[in-house]
Amino acid sequence: MKPRKVILIGTGLVGVSFLYAAMNRAIATSYGIIDINEKAVNGNVMDLEDAIYPSLQPCNVFKATYEDCKDADIIVIAAGVPQKSGESRLDKVVQNAKIIEDIGIQIKNSGFNGITIIISNPVDILAFVYQKVTGFEKNKVISSGTSLDTSRLVVELSKCLGVAPQSIESFVIGEHGDSSVSVFSATRIGGLPLKYFEDRGMFSKEQYDTIHEIIQKKGYDIVKCKGYTSFGIGACVASICEAIFNDSKKVMVVGAPLDGQYGVKDIYIGTPCIIGAGGIEQIVELELNSKEKIKFQQSVSVLKDVIKSINY
Ligand code: NAD
Repeated sequence: MKPRKVILIGTGLVGVSFLYAAMNRAIATSYGIIDINEKAVNGNVMDLEDAIYPSLQPCNVFKATYEDCKDADIIVIAAGVPQKSGESRLDKVVQNAKIIEDIGIQIKNSGFNGITIIISNPVDILAFVYQKVTGFEKNKVISSGTSLDTSRLVVELSKCLGVAPQSIESFVIGEHGDSSVSVFSATRIGGLPLKYFEDRGMFSKEQYDTIHEIIQKKGYDIVKCKGYTSFGIGACVASICEAIFNDSKKVMVVGAPLDGQYGVKDIYIGTPCIIGAGGIEQIVELELNSKEKIKFQQSVSVLKDVIKSINY
């Protein structure tokens, strides 16, 4: 395999889950870790090294500096202060925007010319701030957006319908957070819309709201039980990296910089996109029904208000 270098910034619970998922999927040949907590970096480098031998292919895990970003292919940012139980993802915006600004400047100064994926919350706001600070091409700055929410929706539908998640196409768009929108109108199972299953008594209209509520609360429910979430987002971001390295042109939900799609500009927000070697190669604008359109515009307003409040 051609050398493929990933740098992870922020080696907390989320960052490490991403790296472990990436190693197990043999996504890259070299993984560097940066964090202000040196002990955490040293510990995780040693611990992840122990996973090299049983993983799919040999790779290198090392303690990195910003100089190592220069020739990296992908940088994943999971640095920040996570929300506590009872807090919303938007509660940490000022603190995390400052962290992402500092990190962005150091990455820019390294001469990095690859693709960045932001995970830290509030993820679409931080992707917006990072892109402004670095001036990197917008399609090469990707927010993990509603990738995790989409995974949650597909798994919930799979449980209701008894169909493998991999055979379900569905999307959560909008803010990764309280105003997200589950797009049931565009959901297909083996090419069939949900109405097909409703007509046969296998699904009911009432389940739309229940399922959306379950997936919207799921992050909070996990945090209530174990204090943080990590495996889901780690796996989602590993699969985005895989699509980039393999130039797979896969349709995936990420936080993307809208430029007129859905009638919206100058914002990162969750939507399906074609992901390949160029990062976000095309934004897929879904045909929403009238209810979904209203909810999506409300989600846009939530994010625009936050961006305004931090003077961006
Ligand atoms: P954590 O506290 O376990 O880890 C955060 C890490 O960031 C720590 O190791 C800390 O030392 C490091 N850090 C802080 N400031 C830094 C800086 N300036 N430079 C380098 N490293 C720095 O938190 P976590 O649970 O891993 O969560 C990380 C982020 O991911 C949070 O913002 C959280 O809200 C977010 N998150 C996002 C999603 C999603 O779907 N996008 C899901 C879960 C968590």
